[in-house]
Amino acid sequence: MNDAPIVTRIAPSPTGFMHVGTARTALFNWLYARGRGGKFLLRVEDTDRARSTPEATEAILKGLRWLGLDWDGDAVSQADRAERHAEVARAMVESGAAYRCFATQDEIETFRETAKAEGRSTLYRSPWRDSAPGEHPDAPYVIRVKAPLEGETVIADAVQGDVRFRNDQLDDMVLLRSDGSPTYMLAVVVDDHDMGVTHVIRGDDHLNNAARQGLIYDAMGWPRPVYAHIPLIHGEDGKKLSKRHGATGVEEYAAMGYPAEAMRNYLARLGWSHGDDEVFTTEQALEWFDLGGIGRSPARLDFKKLDNVSGQH
Ligand code: GLU
Repeated sequence: MNDAPIVTRIAPSPTGFMHVGTARTALFNWLYARGRGGKFLLRVEDTDRARSTPEATEAILKGLRWLGLDWDGDAVSQADRAERHAEVARAMVESGAAYRCFATQDEIETFRETAKAEGRSTLYRSPWRDSAPGEHPDAPYVIRVKAPLEGETVIADAVQGDVRFRNDQLDDMVLLRSDGSPTYMLAVVVDDHDMGVTHVIRGDDHLNNAARQGLIYDAMGWPRPVYAHIPLIHGEDGKKLSKRHGATGVEEYAAMGYPAEAMRNYLARLGWSHGDDEVFTTEQALEWFDLGGIGRSPARLDFKKLDNVSGQH
């Protein structure tokens, strides 16, 4: 058993309002860390400058405050750390775990079209993968990871079990764009590592990313965090949650006058269970919450349950 202090985080992209899915992920991370004397951190993933807005960041901070999910230290802005991300990409080139790719968009397109026509995998394999620095032109380039071509990558997930990926299905993803800016894949790993995150609890739409991100951890010799990928929330009809299912933004619930305690109870029950307990206090949730209680199938948003718990808080 490793008894290093637990550090979790919520890493929202500030591109809209605060979705109930984000709130649920935040709550799970908060419960897990706070229930074990650990830390809960907030990182605003604002690297996508075109889509990130200060209003969306404000909505997230407001939503977390309303829910009473306090974070340790200051909120970290991912965009502020771009220089550190670039430094790691360069270190990976130095060690041979990544390479400079000078291929143009046209060349990549041609590669894909030819591969498709010949019935081969269209995963891009750059001719620059094994080039020596002496052969490099003075032209713009991106930095790509050198993904292994054989074997498999296993993600030991606390919710999903061992999930296996064939390495030949992992692409040489871009780490650093030609303008020197980091991709999400690079930034998330560097930040989680530097912030000392021990447990990554997030939506299972990131499960494939975990395999790809593992390449960066391994290349840097960094230990991987414990992963827990939670099934996404669906509407009552079993379809992916969308506006037509009703309120999907946290501020809508706040405006409807639901108490934050009831909302925490309701969100905790979206994908996590503790025996047959439906109504509980936050103190009880802090005591009971564990990764083993997270279900493997998508939770369904159910307003009747929210009304039920609200009546009892
Ligand atoms: N920024 C990502 C999102 O909002 C989260 C990434 C992560 O949790 O690793 O989906």
